[in-house]
Amino acid sequence: MKFISTRGEGGRLSFLEAVAEGLAPDGGLFVPEQMPDISGRLKNWEGLGYAELCFEFLRLFADGVPDGELKKIVSESYKKFDDPAVAPLRGLGGRLWMLELYHGPTLAFKDFALQLLGNLYEYMLAKTSRKINVLGATSGDTGSAAISGLLGKKGVNIFILYPEGRISPLQERQMTCTGADNVFPIAIDGTFDDAQAIVKKIFGDNSFKAEWGLSAVNSINLARVLAQCVYYIYAWLKLPESARERAVFAVPTGNFGNVLAGWMAWKCGMRCGGFRVATNQNDILFRLFNTGVYEVSEVMPSFAPSMDIQVASNFERFIYFSENGDSAKVRRIMSEFSKTGKWVFEGFDPGNFSASRMSDAEIPAKISEVWDKHGILIDPHTACAFKDLPDSPAVVLSTASPAKFPELIKKTLGFEPKSDILEKLKREKIVKTSMPADAEKIRAFIRERGIR
Ligand SMILES: *Cc1c(COP(=O)(O)O)cnc(C)c1O
Repeated sequence: MKFISTRGEGGRLSFLEAVAEGLAPDGGLFVPEQMPDISGRLKNWEGLGYAELCFEFLRLFADGVPDGELKKIVSESYKKFDDPAVAPLRGLGGRLWMLELYHGPTLAFKDFALQLLGNLYEYMLAKTSRKINVLGATSGDTGSAAISGLLGKKGVNIFILYPEGRISPLQERQMTCTGADNVFPIAIDGTFDDAQAIVKKIFGDNSFKAEWGLSAVNSINLARVLAQCVYYIYAWLKLPESARERAVFAVPTGNFGNVLAGWMAWKCGMRCGGFRVATNQNDILFRLFNTGVYEVSEVMPSFAPSMDIQVASNFERFIYFSENGDSAKVRRIMSEFSKTGKWVFEGFDPGNFSASRMSDAEIPAKISEVWDKHGILIDPHTACAFKDLPDSPAVVLSTASPAKFPELIKKTLGFEPKSDILEKLKREKIVKTSMPADAEKIRAFIRERGIR
């Protein structure tokens, strides 16, 4: 299997090359040259455990990684999950299910992709004897999941910038209490935008980038999307057979990486009823799927912060497929969109997507309602996906543990959810470096602590 860029000018790469590159050299995103057809295999996959299923699915893409190695990488990646099912599908009664994607080490679904990516990196680095320094900025979730995926891995040091005092104390602890000596959390005296600007500036310096083997762990990496396809197939296989073909997956959505993965599983032959793109008040995708107009507006901070985005970085892959692989057209759309912040899809057909939007006021109300009706506790991101569920079998994806949002849950329901992992963190020592928002100082720090 080879991988090509959505913009058509990025060559034909192997799986490992595409994973190592992240972004394609022409600015596009990597997609499989053709989709494998899994429809004939699903029956045989029915009894598989999570890691076994993941191995079977990924080996259809991961040419160049011997089966034995891939098996090791996959089983290592899902070992740290605290539920034996890894992604348990919980029946809520009637035709409603919830897929719990928060049993990984940082209690959010990003662990599914980043644990795997960390092990793939380690495998590639060992093979080539290369060393890399990962540099990124975070407003919370992605940073901690990336750190957890890479901690203790050989050949990688990881530097994550975050705005001091502007992320939750729990999120800070998740990044700073790892005890790993290849992890360098850096608290910047500034905002998330300042942190992001520093990272961009350092990546813009090509000679420094080459000298230190700088690498990003961005949300558009092909391996992240493929890893996420697996839990859709896993859930689909756990549904009663009569529900499978009509089941709609309702997905809390920000950068469109999660729901895109489901849709790719569908394209590979997992026949389901469709996908519901659930946004918070940052509703660019809600507007798109209802009107065919893709247009940015201001980001508004919400109770579901990991969905506070406007430009959905994975959306380009959807455009590529819905334009039937016409990469010249993708280039035209993306260039117009980056200039004007808008693209109107003529005769737009949402296909098997629908969309919902939840205001901030509705989030606590939905958390209460689900607690009263089903007796389960959900986090604010998951709450968005419970909005206006269709009248068909539905699987709501639960993307984070409610224990990550103790303040909001306490205010809403009067008690605080607890998690053993987070309680334990409260007793660990915080190790971080506080620095001014100055790219030169950060560069000097990387020179001091980077791996070569
Ligand atoms: C990242 C994240 C999302 C959004 O996922 P996308 O792949 O960006 O659409 C939703 N919920 C939680 C908890 C997240 O961390």
